[in-house]
Amino acid sequence: VLFLQGGALLQFGMVPMNFLRNTGKAADYIVTGTWSKKASEEAKTQGKVNVAWDGKAGNYNRVPRQDEIKLDPAAPYVYLCSNETIQGVQYPTLPQLGDVPLVCDSSSDFLCRPVPVERFGILFACAQKNAGPAGVTIVIIRDDLVAKSPSDLPSLLNYKIMAENKSLLNTPPTFAIYFVHLVTNWLLHDIGGLGKMEEINKKKSKLLYDAIDASAGFYQAHAEPSSRSIMNVPFRLADAAFEEPFLKGAAACGLVELKGHRSVGGCRASIYNAMPMAGVEALRDFMLDFAKKHAK
Ligand SMILES: *Cc1c(COP(=O)(O)O)cnc(C)c1O
Repeated sequence: VLFLQGGALLQFGMVPMNFLRNTGKAADYIVTGTWSKKASEEAKTQGKVNVAWDGKAGNYNRVPRQDEIKLDPAAPYVYLCSNETIQGVQYPTLPQLGDVPLVCDSSSDFLCRPVPVERFGILFACAQKNAGPAGVTIVIIRDDLVAKSPSDLPSLLNYKIMAENKSLLNTPPTFAIYFVHLVTNWLLHDIGGLGKMEEINKKKSKLLYDAIDASAGFYQAHAEPSSRSIMNVPFRLADAAFEEPFLKGAAACGLVELKGHRSVGGCRASIYNAMPMAGVEALRDFMLDFAKKHAK
């Protein structure tokens, strides 16, 4: 387990720098939204990329079915993003991806539920969604991959050197790491573990999806039911003219930061681990109330 800097975005570059560059092979990328798309573009600065599936045709509203993923058995790794933060698209379970190492960007769903960590070659997450403040990125990487980092990379970009130095090659982001320690203790001792956290997150997200689904189309979720994220709930109002009054009315009730990401518009409720049930209930109540007032 490494504690690195540079955010998730540096991992978009560091993974292909260490495991794709100079191989002459193509890495498999499953593109389910903004972040995996960005990662595939970063990878192209280091080598060849095979897009194993791209959800663009459906405006990134779901994860692929198993039979839609076109893998290259010679790929040095296969890459996916477990939760697309902007589109609210999350894998309910991991697909079967063969024997090549699996690389996963779990930035926005790290610690939201238990994961079969042994199935990943690399699992990375910036801290600032669920684990702590910005400044540290947690990278869980298999020993056999660490050993393969090429020696001609700058030390801070080399997994092997960072692992040999226990993430202490230079001054690490001490406050951020300390904070991650507090958050993981909170998860273990106050919440009762990741299984319990998952139960809470499922309940929280269900409150919102149920309100959306019961609104007779007044609210529309971006993601298909089978791929809906329990962390980020993007939705729109069928009549876009209501969007601004909705956001203003919500803000007046203390429900803020609900505007969707500028790249997709609409609304988005990010309900990370730190958001209490009461906050989600307040939003749900506001949504029901607003729909009652304005639905035809
Ligand atoms: C936020 C986020 C990123 C970017 O993280 P930075 O630390 O800002 O580089 C990448 N991937 C996902 C899935 C994210 O949610």
